[in-house]
Amino acid sequence: MSKVKIFLEERDMPRAWYNIQADMPNLPQPPLHPGTKKPVGPDDLSPIFPMGLIQQEVTTERWIEIPDEVMEIYKIWRPSPLYRARRLEKALDTPAKIYYKYEGVSPAGSHKLNTSVPQVYYNKVEGIKRIATETGAGQWGVALSQACNFFGLECTVYMVKVSYHQKPYRRTMMETFGAEVFASPSEQTSTGRQILKEDPESLGSLGMAISEAVEDAAGRDDTNYALGSVLNHVILHQTVIGLEAKKQLEMVDLYPDVVIACCGGGSNFGGAAFPFAYDKIKKGSKVRLLAVEPSACPTLTRGHFGYDFGDVAGFTPLLWMYTLGKDFMPPGIHAGGLRYHGDSPLVSQIVHDGIAEARAYGQTAVFQSAILFAKTEGTIPAPESSHAIHGAVEEALAAREAGEARTILFNLSGHGLLDLPSYETYLDKKLVDYPLPEESLKKALANLPQI
Ligand SMILES: *Cc1c(COP(=O)(O)O)cnc(C)c1O
Repeated sequence: MSKVKIFLEERDMPRAWYNIQADMPNLPQPPLHPGTKKPVGPDDLSPIFPMGLIQQEVTTERWIEIPDEVMEIYKIWRPSPLYRARRLEKALDTPAKIYYKYEGVSPAGSHKLNTSVPQVYYNKVEGIKRIATETGAGQWGVALSQACNFFGLECTVYMVKVSYHQKPYRRTMMETFGAEVFASPSEQTSTGRQILKEDPESLGSLGMAISEAVEDAAGRDDTNYALGSVLNHVILHQTVIGLEAKKQLEMVDLYPDVVIACCGGGSNFGGAAFPFAYDKIKKGSKVRLLAVEPSACPTLTRGHFGYDFGDVAGFTPLLWMYTLGKDFMPPGIHAGGLRYHGDSPLVSQIVHDGIAEARAYGQTAVFQSAILFAKTEGTIPAPESSHAIHGAVEEALAAREAGEARTILFNLSGHGLLDLPSYETYLDKKLVDYPLPEESLKKALANLPQI
């Protein structure tokens, strides 16, 4: 009987993050200034990001050493465990071996603390006293407020108003760590006041909250802005997931045939998959890398590959990525973390070049697999992570069909204990799918910026 839990020792934790920019056959086109449409330079970004992170955004060095202060905090929950899902395998009657890396053991309950800790660290080193950010469902706000608390920085979070009222417990978590949380649109910024003047009942959106947080950070010397996904430095920090998982599988003499993760802005997918993409690019490994997204927000599978803005207001640089158009309003699916119109430029390029592949699923199928996983393995998964579970279930069933003993690795990016209202909706049979009609897609893509 093989092992169910595979633990690394602290001393075997990776000492450096892996930067795929060193090895990609094609780098993404550079980000462009929203006004001049010229490539952005460090000076354009320095009002809201520290130099340490701006350098990580553009470097082509392969390994970036993890600072000791960051390692010390990582050790609170890292190395995270790798589990073999034996009871799930049995329920699926599959010859495949299913392993999952579990990032829900972090005190934030998700992988996002892997990047909030180094982001706050590099800000602290450069004398920043306060960080402003946005959050949708609240996972990023929680992770950033914990990291700010560890390093003694103030934290201000603009939380999309509808979530502020629907997800009160994530707000309480942020406030427990000392963060100040405003429902966005708020009276704190001129963007917020303007939106409220036009529509006092506005429920807010991620695009609006980004605009408020950027305005706050740009207006104060002691304050910077932080983003929880999409950017190159965020993906870089998340590679601890894949680096650890690779070592853990080596401990049982295995190498995956397929690596699966859900994809919103791309950070947990890039983090889990890029260390394996290295093997694929440099060593001819045949491993498949599978990004799973919701069919209601099918950025990688049906989006346009080219330049688009990161936010609704058009404040951010133009990014080279798969996009549904910045005006795309995704339906209110329960995987709040997968509702972004764009995607990481690094992940987009890797998918475009055929090094990784993408698949989209509807949320009712995803919740069926989430319930099966909860019943067999005992953990209630986040709705976002459940997309990866559904991908793994499909792979395991395909292995049964083909009579093949595949090794499947997926990343369980977080637990779902603060997402129980979504489970309630499913159990009450009120959950519906929102496949995106071709018409709406065409409409959303009609307004792409002309470059
Ligand atoms: C935010 C979040 C995601 C989606 O973000 P990525 O950057 O695509 O990883 C996925 N899972 C969980 C649990 C999250 O909190």
